[in-house]
Amino acid sequence: MDPAGQLAYTDAYARSVEARVATVDDSGETALVVLDRTVFYPGGGGQPSDRGLMLRASDGRQWAVRAARKTGGDIVHELEPTSDGPPQRDDVLRVDLDWARRFALMRTHTALHALCGVVWRDYGALVTGGNMEPGGGRMDFEFERMSGDLVDEIEAKVNTELAAHRQVRVNVLPRDEAFAIPDLIRTKINLLPEGIREIRTIEIVGLDLQADGGTHVANTSEVGGIRVTGYESKGRINKRIRLELVDPAG
Ligand SMILES: [Zn+2]
Repeated sequence: MDPAGQLAYTDAYARSVEARVATVDDSGETALVVLDRTVFYPGGGGQPSDRGLMLRASDGRQWAVRAARKTGGDIVHELEPTSDGPPQRDDVLRVDLDWARRFALMRTHTALHALCGVVWRDYGALVTGGNMEPGGGRMDFEFERMSGDLVDEIEAKVNTELAAHRQVRVNVLPRDEAFAIPDLIRTKINLLPEGIREIRTIEIVGLDLQADGGTHVANTSEVGGIRVTGYESKGRINKRIRLELVDPAG
C-alpha cells in the first residue's frame, strides 16, 4: 500500500474515499482487507482505530469495519463477520468513517496535547504516556508537585488555550531536523526506532509541539471546553490526569 494512500495522516477531515481492494485474507474469524487507499486511522499513540463501513457500488452490499491496524506498512481493515463473505480483490468500494466517533477522537486528542502544553509550560512536567476514547482520555506525567489543588487551575488554563483559536499544524520533518528541536526532545522522541527517517509532528501553534501519528482538529476552537475529571498518583513522581470534553457530541 502506497503511504500516499493513507489519507488520515495528511487530511484528518477526509471521511470518505473510493478505493480498490488490494488483498483479502479470509482465513481467520474476521476478514482482513487492504485497500489501495483509505481514510481509516489504524490506531496508535493512544488514539484508537476508526470504525466505519465499506460499500460496493456495483451491487449495494456493505460491510461494517470494526477496527483497523497497521501491519507491515499497510492499513488492514478488520470486518465484522458476515455469513455471505467479504469483498473480492479488485472490487471498487466506498469507504466511510464513523465520522461522529472520529471527530470526537480528534477533539479529544487535541485537548490532551493542549493539556501537555500547559503542564510543560507552567509546571515543567514531562509527559510519559496517554490513552483516549471518544470524548475523554488521560495523560501520565512526571509531575512530582501535582496535587488535587492544582486540578482547577490546570483545567482553567487548558480552557483558556483552547478558546484562543490556536492553529494545529501537521509537519513531517527529516529525523535529524526533528532531533534538533528542544521541544520535541522532551516528549521522548529519542525512543523512536532508529529506522524511522522522517518524524511527523503536531504543533498547537504557540503552545505545544510533539512527535505524533494521530488525527487532530485544525484549530483548538473546534475542541470546545474540557473538564479535568480526576487525577491519580501513580507513585511519588508519576501522576495521571484525566479529562473529558464538556460537549462530547460537538
Ligand atoms: Zn498525541
